[in-house]
Amino acid sequence: MLSPTTLQLVQSLIGMNTVSQNSNLELIHFVRDELAHLGVKSRLSYNADKTKANLFATLGEGRPAGIILSGHTDTVPWDGQEWSTPPLSAQLRDGPEPRLYGRGSADMKGFIGVALAQARAFLESPAPHAVHLALSYDEEVGCFGVRELIADMRDAGIKPLACIIGEPTGMVPAIAHKGVYRYRCCVRGKEAHSSLTPSSVNAIEMAARLIGKVRDMAEGFERNEPRYAGFDVPFSTASVGQFQGGIADNVVPRDAWFHYEFRDLPTADAKRMQQEVLAHARALEPGMQAIAPEAGFRFETICEIPSFLGSADDAVTRLAQRLSGQNRTTEVAFGTEAGIFKQSGIPTVVCGPGHIAQAHQPDEFVSLDQLAQCELFMHRLATTPAPEL
Ligand SMILES: [Zn+2]
Repeated sequence: MLSPTTLQLVQSLIGMNTVSQNSNLELIHFVRDELAHLGVKSRLSYNADKTKANLFATLGEGRPAGIILSGHTDTVPWDGQEWSTPPLSAQLRDGPEPRLYGRGSADMKGFIGVALAQARAFLESPAPHAVHLALSYDEEVGCFGVRELIADMRDAGIKPLACIIGEPTGMVPAIAHKGVYRYRCCVRGKEAHSSLTPSSVNAIEMAARLIGKVRDMAEGFERNEPRYAGFDVPFSTASVGQFQGGIADNVVPRDAWFHYEFRDLPTADAKRMQQEVLAHARALEPGMQAIAPEAGFRFETICEIPSFLGSADDAVTRLAQRLSGQNRTTEVAFGTEAGIFKQSGIPTVVCGPGHIAQAHQPDEFVSLDQLAQCELFMHRLATTPAPEL
């Protein structure tokens, strides 16, 4: 049974609008103040214009090293979605499976609320390790905040033992996910009346050649890549998500742009994939520049979220299994901050309440049973040592 105070805390967090494009400071200040009541100091690290912050706090300061409980504070928006209850209202609905509805309920304010509700228990824990609470901003738009958070943690000399990321996995420890690498390509050509094509460089057509390359690569992954069992799509994927170019039927277009992405297997390498696209672009440019020296391709990185690969044998995985009462592990289809924590040398596992199928959807929900399982997980973390680590 989920405790009423935990439920109330989760509902309060859902009630705060932390869509990625907005400030998350209301939530961060709320958590900071809650912790301050317990005598716990929070480290806040901000984005450039100080509208958003990460929060890092240690419960059990003075104990040797700790376990990070990590969650992102931002949510996706709900514009254009049909909700049967207001997304911030955090409504409870009874039924065969009582549920809590609201934006962020599964992804991932349920986890944050449950962790925060245990703050006093973590402080009073007999376990030798501390627990760190790590809340980030701008995860949904590219995992930007967490890099600041990790840098700030390093500056403060904090060396955590392990990290548990509470993204919705149905409380089953997840040990792998693909990366998400997204780029923007801007194509500059040379315009002309469409009857005079030889003296022009057609930006759309040049973009199409590069888009064809991305498509060829995607087909190559499907044909040739060694399969990675456990993923819905057991090979890396590539796709173009947006395209724009041209101003009129009778003008050879000077400009075009498109966005594309790679979702690479933990055993593949998205950076090399991007190098292949760049090489293809560089090979096209001499032909374009023979007509117009200013013609060419320009690339911008939208996000680079590394893939994540842990192991069922990792101590942190075994810890998560014991705390959740699960003896299996899973892979997830979505990107998380796990690869970034792992890259910084912190053993990591993903395990949290709710299911990704409900995340980002209208009528997002988390079942009270999932929250109660998460509460039990946190309770065990607070009351027993972690011999696995
Ligand atoms: Zn999430």
